[in-house]
Amino acid sequence: MSLILNLYYVQRRTKINIPFIDLKRFEPGFHDALMSKLHSMTLGAQFIGGQEVAELEQRLLSKLEVAHAVTCANGTDALQLALRAVGVGAGDVVLVPNATFWATFEAVVNVGAKPVTVDSDLSDGGVCVDAFEQAIREGRPKAALIAHLYGWGSARILELRALCRQHGVVLIEDGAQAFGVRYQGHSIYKSAQISTTSFYPAKVLGGAGDGGAVFTDDATIADKVRRLGNHGRTAHYGYGDVGWNSRLDSLQAAFLNLSLDHIEARIASRREAVAFYRQHLPDTGIQLMNAPDGYEENGYCNVCLMPDLASKAALEASLKAAGIGFGNIYPSVMSKQPGAAAYLEGHFGGQVGEQLCASVLNLPLYPYMTETELHRIVNVVREGQEAIHGR
Ligand SMILES: *Cc1c(COP(=O)(O)O)cnc(C)c1O
Repeated sequence: MSLILNLYYVQRRTKINIPFIDLKRFEPGFHDALMSKLHSMTLGAQFIGGQEVAELEQRLLSKLEVAHAVTCANGTDALQLALRAVGVGAGDVVLVPNATFWATFEAVVNVGAKPVTVDSDLSDGGVCVDAFEQAIREGRPKAALIAHLYGWGSARILELRALCRQHGVVLIEDGAQAFGVRYQGHSIYKSAQISTTSFYPAKVLGGAGDGGAVFTDDATIADKVRRLGNHGRTAHYGYGDVGWNSRLDSLQAAFLNLSLDHIEARIASRREAVAFYRQHLPDTGIQLMNAPDGYEENGYCNVCLMPDLASKAALEASLKAAGIGFGNIYPSVMSKQPGAAAYLEGHFGGQVGEQLCASVLNLPLYPYMTETELHRIVNVVREGQEAIHGR
């Protein structure tokens, strides 16, 4: 398997294509350490729970500055576990950002609740605070979800948290993209009432498959999450609730523990790439979205806001021609997805989310990008922009 991946990688490299994300750049020794764990765990039939899962949860506590961490099968389940654990169920209204990954919306529907979308803020990609406040006052939600997109959180995160507290609305923070994000000197997960993450391979702390976790300082909520994610179990054949199976595999936890050993280096490398883009792109007519004041971003995603559809299409064409990958995270808002129509309960605010989705373009960003790659990307962007502006 890895030989095939390596050959594929070499082939792509000789064509000097640059992917949007490259997940194959492991540190020296990573693969050997992984093989040795796989060897012993497989021989010992350590497949469910056990030491690796316990160690991962323990390490997440100090890293993320939370009192309880419960791992689960994926980031979407993490959201559903969080919603269920705080008592969201049939008929409850839950606020969701209109610009986010579909799972944020989906989780609300899957627990039987009614999603109400909230418009975006173009300055940080988070929710529009005015629309959010109106939704809290008029929408009578039981809970609200916000998503920390792109590698930072809302510029006005403290206001969002305070608003929810004042109105007795549970705030669930979808931190699937936020591993390593710091706000005012602390982990962004630290002051959340309840938050989640995803270990999907392309996330900052990515697994060798699916995984996720729920974080909270509330022991009762943490217990409930743990129970729901393990069939509502109170004993092996005793069930205190109806949950489902959302356990994280032990082998997956082992991979994540090894990845955690390198996470600071990976995040530092991502941040260096961010700094490079920031240094080389500002006079190209493209607006780079920055982490708001107070944040130290994790370098998850590069976010360019293109001034108009024509220049966006032109840049995409030149990137394609040069063999450089790019993303549009996200190309459409939740409320306009065909799958949302049957469930959408309402919307607060305007159409800024649509504007964000129409203009967003993401350049390659992943750990251990080379200077050659970064220079090449920036040159292609600059040449493309110069051609458009007739310079
Ligand atoms: C990745 C992601 C999820 C879902 O995580 P999975 O592990 O893929 O289920 C949810 N919300 C956001 C914002 C994400 O980026």
